[in-house]
Amino acid sequence: MARETYTARLERKVCISEPAQCYHFEFVLDGLESFPFASGQFVSAVADDANGKQQTRAYSLASAANGNRFDLCVNRVEEGFFSNHLADLPDLPIGSEIHVHGPHGHFILQSPITDSILVATGTGIAPMRGYLQWLFPSNGEDRSGGKEIWLVYGTRYETDIYYQDEFEALAQRKPNFHYLPTLSRAQESWGGLRGHVQVHVSRIVEERAARLGLSLPLPAPDPAIPASDLSFDIYAYICGLNFMVSGVRELLAGFGWHRKQIVFERYD
Ligand SMILES: Cc1cc2nc3c(=O)[nH]c(=O)nc-3n(C[C@H](O)[C@H](O)[C@H](O)COP(=O)(O)OP(=O)(O)OC[C@H]3O[C@@H](n4cnc5c(N)ncnc54)[C@H](O)[C@@H]3O)c2cc1C
Repeated sequence: MARETYTARLERKVCISEPAQCYHFEFVLDGLESFPFASGQFVSAVADDANGKQQTRAYSLASAANGNRFDLCVNRVEEGFFSNHLADLPDLPIGSEIHVHGPHGHFILQSPITDSILVATGTGIAPMRGYLQWLFPSNGEDRSGGKEIWLVYGTRYETDIYYQDEFEALAQRKPNFHYLPTLSRAQESWGGLRGHVQVHVSRIVEERAARLGLSLPLPAPDPAIPASDLSFDIYAYICGLNFMVSGVRELLAGFGWHRKQIVFERYD
């Protein structure tokens, strides 16, 4: 069956990091009343390259469902086709359109909401922004159920901390949201966290285990219980390049976490 492809009109484009060449995009689907999706899903964007060959790339929705609108967060990849095509789109007043199909993907919040560690590097922040907009909508509603939500965001430099103001404001507003940006190549003046995301994920897991009186590694669940019947009190959601995603998955497996507790999306 042919997939339905939609035309999305660019309404706003902002460079959110000049050094990393990362852009925030806001699109409107004029032909649709609403574009329902679960936070964390992606759209497939389609365009012809210079040789007239159709190219398709996945881009995580960087917002929660919001009528016929969606946001993307994309950085330029050297020699890449699609990321540069998007980054070069003319903003208003000229305006641009792209073609997408979707939503697609299973990188979504598990139900019911549990304590959750969101781990991202680079534009892996996009689905996390979608989760957080859904958990803590701007109308004051709160879907977190008071569960602890950590966002551990790793990047090299302070200039590459995307959406920092938004997450800091959210952490001010919501005591159960903990925003932990960490830099691997921080300047001396940086007063925040340092090192790779793994260091801070470990600390969260160890402190939580101590608080709950659990020793690590956790005992493996009874193999007689089918995996589909297991329930968990915490999940990790990991998004970014494979190198980081694999590292965090191995770390959590070493703490005795079940593979079902570790939800991930790899960009490469
Ligand atoms: C489910 C999913 C969701 C995604 N969501 C996003 C998103 O929200 N934002 C975003 O910016 N990207 C996202 N990506 C990556 C995106 O689909 C493209 O791979 C990326 O934009 C590069 O495409 P390109 O056409 O510019 O480069 P290509 O022409 O495909 O590749 C050029 C070269 O760059 C390498 N490369 C490809 N991707 C990357 C990368 N991300 N970093 C470093 N090198 C790379 C390739 O191996 C190749 O050597 C997502 C990928 C997946 C699978």
